[in-house]
Amino acid sequence: MAEFKIIIAGGGIAGLTLANMLERFDLDYVLLEAHSEIAPPVGASIGLFPNGLRILDQLGCYERIANLSVQHLEVAYMRDRKGDVLSALHQMFKHLERRYGYGLLFFDRQKLLEILHDTIKHKDRVLLNRKVSNIDLIDGGVNVTTADGSVYTGTLVVGADGIHSKVRSLMRDLGNKLQPGYFPAKEEDNVPCYYRCSFGIAQHVPGWVAGEQNIVMGNGQSQLVVSGPEGRVYWFLFDKLPQEKYGKDIPKYTQEDEADFVKQNYNLPITRKVTFGHVFDKRLSSALTPLHEIVYQKWFFKRIITFGDSAHKSTVHVATMAYAWSHPNISIGRAFFGLPNPFRAEWNITTISEQIATFFRYDAVTALAGYIGGNLYSIWDLRRLGYIQTRSAVKAALAVIVGQFMIGPGATWAGLWSWREDVIAGLAR
Ligand SMILES: Cc1cc2nc3c(=O)[nH]c(=O)nc-3n(C[C@H](O)[C@H](O)[C@H](O)COP(=O)(O)OP(=O)(O)OC[C@H]3O[C@@H](n4cnc5c(N)ncnc54)[C@H](O)[C@@H]3O)c2cc1C
Repeated sequence: MAEFKIIIAGGGIAGLTLANMLERFDLDYVLLEAHSEIAPPVGASIGLFPNGLRILDQLGCYERIANLSVQHLEVAYMRDRKGDVLSALHQMFKHLERRYGYGLLFFDRQKLLEILHDTIKHKDRVLLNRKVSNIDLIDGGVNVTTADGSVYTGTLVVGADGIHSKVRSLMRDLGNKLQPGYFPAKEEDNVPCYYRCSFGIAQHVPGWVAGEQNIVMGNGQSQLVVSGPEGRVYWFLFDKLPQEKYGKDIPKYTQEDEADFVKQNYNLPITRKVTFGHVFDKRLSSALTPLHEIVYQKWFFKRIITFGDSAHKSTVHVATMAYAWSHPNISIGRAFFGLPNPFRAEWNITTISEQIATFFRYDAVTALAGYIGGNLYSIWDLRRLGYIQTRSAVKAALAVIVGQFMIGPGATWAGLWSWREDVIAGLAR
């Protein structure tokens, strides 16, 4: 192998982004996409947050994204299951932009693929109708074969071919043959699915207020419904499965399944005036899809790497993940029975009731420390950003400490939260 060359399997968001990155480093690549189009009109939306937009800016894509006719989000409502407002955050786009340099942009997914593709300089390296079907490890590289019989030689291959990744399954087969035990057994069969999601694009929905984002809470269900450009409404209705499914048992939904789902949820409120059914009735496109959740243990083997959904696809509960990462051996049993007692030199508590009581004491102390720490941090943060004067910050900090004893941590936190929202909302007035 003379030249360093990367073969990218898949021209979705991950594959096209990687191609753009490689061009910035002047690295040679070829991208093999199974589809006949690079940006097929699949009728889904994409929401890009400041972290992703920053990367896209570095790749030279941001200006084009910002110039799309995007509907800026004015108000973000949190609603209960009847559609009543629980909280409202005004000027959301401006807040995000002011804090992070970029806002939150929702638009048609197809546009993102188009822009990523347009930004690529070497379009001749993006090959369509090339479905990867086999990978051979050769001396110093890989041979990648596509369904039409073509063979591409590279230094390594990156599988950016989505949740049903062919590259991953070929990588596993090679791993099992050459290094048995490297991949955990039956990992793909154990991919869980707890939720399904109805999503799509609607337009001109009666009663919908342009510029609104609505997150609707529910029991086993939640919705994210967002304003898009040209009177569009992007919806996501997440629905917990009656029973979780794994691997091959995860269903692929048909149009009949979707019709049943819509019938069952037609009257689900989004706002006081608009229901899920009203939005669905005005759809331009829609789908019902299972939501796989997996972070694979192994992301590469020899010269094969997985990337994007082929490596991880998950619903991120940030705090839970941070806790789990810092406590890799965590278990409910340990939490209750294995906690060291910080107040005694020796661990000698024999009855369960005493142990539970110790746990709650320990829990109460750490929770209180967490509350105070979190509260003080958020006050400091407002001061750091220049949103409040030092005098107000000191007063708020004192109120937080006194509040712990006078009205309790929960009520103090609620008071602080309300004050903080007021301060932040005041900035945009
Ligand atoms: C309902 C829903 C809503 C979402 N909303 C958001 C959102 O708002 N914001 C966000 O950031 N993310 C969102 N996501 C997640 C996001 O869509 C995915 O994480 C992202 O699309 C993954 O990109 P990917 O390139 O890894 O895979 P994919 O987008 O699946 O792309 C894989 C590509 O590989 C091609 N391919 C497949 N097999 C082969 C093969 N054998 N050979 C060659 N090519 C092949 C496919 O044709 C495709 O083009 C959402 C996901 C879902 C399900």
